[in-house]
Amino acid sequence: MSKVSGSCLCGSVRFEVERSYLSAVNCYCGMCRRAHGGSYSTHIAMRREQFKLVAGELRVFTSSREGRREFCQFCGSHVLVHGQTADNSVAVPAGLFEQGAPIEVNAHIFVKDKVAWQSIDDSMPQHDGWPPGIVATHTD
Ligand SMILES: [Zn+2]
Ligand SMILES: [Zn+2]
Repeated sequence: MSKVSGSCLCGSVRFEVERSYLSAVNCYCGMCRRAHGGSYSTHIAMRREQFKLVAGELRVFTSSREGRREFCQFCGSHVLVHGQTADNSVAVPAGLFEQGAPIEVNAHIFVKDKVAWQSIDDSMPQHDGWPPGIVATHTD
């Protein structure tokens, strides 16, 4: 199993993920939009034990009843999203990974919350909420 590494903007938070392939989604929900400041967030869901913090410290923000977001205490880079799905997976923003990481985006999710000024011009599947097969822990 190969390791892929990533870091925050200032470099104090560094992490490794033991995966040979990283499957990502573009999420258009309002919480991701505000957390990242862009029209959508590209992130990768994984089991918590696959994510290993190598250096630095994370601060926690409780973003909804079930959701927690962890970010770098110095530069504010968003590093982990917890509690969104019933299987206790975490999501890691794809942009934090090193160049050349084996990331493939394969769906658009929460498309019903997409801002009007962002268009989708590819043929990947679009879902109004979670992709089929994922059980969400919250509805707010
Ligand atoms: Zn940082
Ligand atoms: Zn989202």
